Amino acid sequence: IIIMGIESSCDDTSAAIIRDGEILSNVVASQKVHEDYGGVVPELASRAHQQNIIPVVDLAIKRANIRRHEISAVAFTRGPGLLGSLLVGTSFAKGFSLAAKIPLIEVNHLQGHVLALFIKENGVELKAPNFPFLCLLVSGGNSQIILVRDYLDMEVIGQTIDDAAGEAFDKCAKVMGLPYPGGPHVDRLAKEGDPNRFEFSRPRIAGLDYSFSGLKTNFLYFLRDNLKENENFVEENMADLCASLQHTIIEILLSKLKRAAKETGINEITVAGGVSANSGLRNALQENAKKHRWNLIIPKFEYTMDNAAMIAITGYYKYLNKEFTGQDAVPFARTQL
Ligand code: ATP
Ligand code: FE
Repeated sequence: IIIMGIESSCDDTSAAIIRDGEILSNVVASQKVHEDYGGVVPELASRAHQQNIIPVVDLAIKRANIRRHEISAVAFTRGPGLLGSLLVGTSFAKGFSLAAKIPLIEVNHLQGHVLALFIKENGVELKAPNFPFLCLLVSGGNSQIILVRDYLDMEVIGQTIDDAAGEAFDKCAKVMGLPYPGGPHVDRLAKEGDPNRFEFSRPRIAGLDYSFSGLKTNFLYFLRDNLKENENFVEENMADLCASLQHTIIEILLSKLKRAAKETGINEITVAGGVSANSGLRNALQENAKKHRWNLIIPKFEYTMDNAAMIAITGYYKYLNKEFTGQDAVPFARTQL
């Protein structure tokens, strides 16, 4: 079974081909137009998707070394994401499915991030989690703890009530004058800094939910107060600021994850989403895995950021389950798992 996946929910246009769960190609075109604006500009994103989609799909098919008519079904991200961006991928997928007379499969982007853990690579032994497992999904738009019972049976048991972890990274990075997206820059600069130099506020929220807006405000006010006394405060303390900020975000993420593991009795732990690329988070997870005897599985870096391989693998499991989508499907900007 060969599935083509299409992802266009935000600012990456991507197409991937997967054969029986094994990756044949994964092409990602990242949009550079947003860098000057400090965030993704929806209208510019849609236009860039429009320009990229056909060359990206062509390249994915070429790299997979397959013929177009061998594709069994086309899977696309239906949501959540930017509506204009999603429309490009959705419309393309519908047209492709009609022309090739193959089934159409809608995929929830968040489910895709989780199932990225199951992407197989030729010749590489797969270290996939066993069901049930917990997945810490940390991305630009979401921070959730998901209880995964089966490929297509997931339950959100904790989530952010305001900002996502990625947003906390990006917004704090922005006030420090770092380029968008700021997460990777904070990660890099934090390596030289002291994580205990500054204290930032942590939310006090019951249960397994997260909150990051208080930290963001606290960080902003802290910089503002210090800049009044020393206008070079940020430049002089960049590494320590990044390290302390990252440390706080990781502690917040880990505290609820540990709690979830304890409450559910599940020690099969995974992480997904763009923020799982963070090296501090990866180290903290590994330390906790040793301490609490978790079987920890961290996906390969290229499958943590937005990509179509995760959409194709989800499409594969839906195909096996015969979960197909009609031509009347419309994208949705917001959705639960
Ligand atoms: P969603 O999946 O919730 O719709 P998204 O698709 O925009 O959101 P992803 O592409 O999964 O999110 O992740 C992007 C986020 O990951 C950005 O906020 C970015 O700053 C963050 N990120 C990427 N690399 C790192 C890193 N090394 N450290 C911290 N954050 C990072
Ligand atoms: Fe994403």
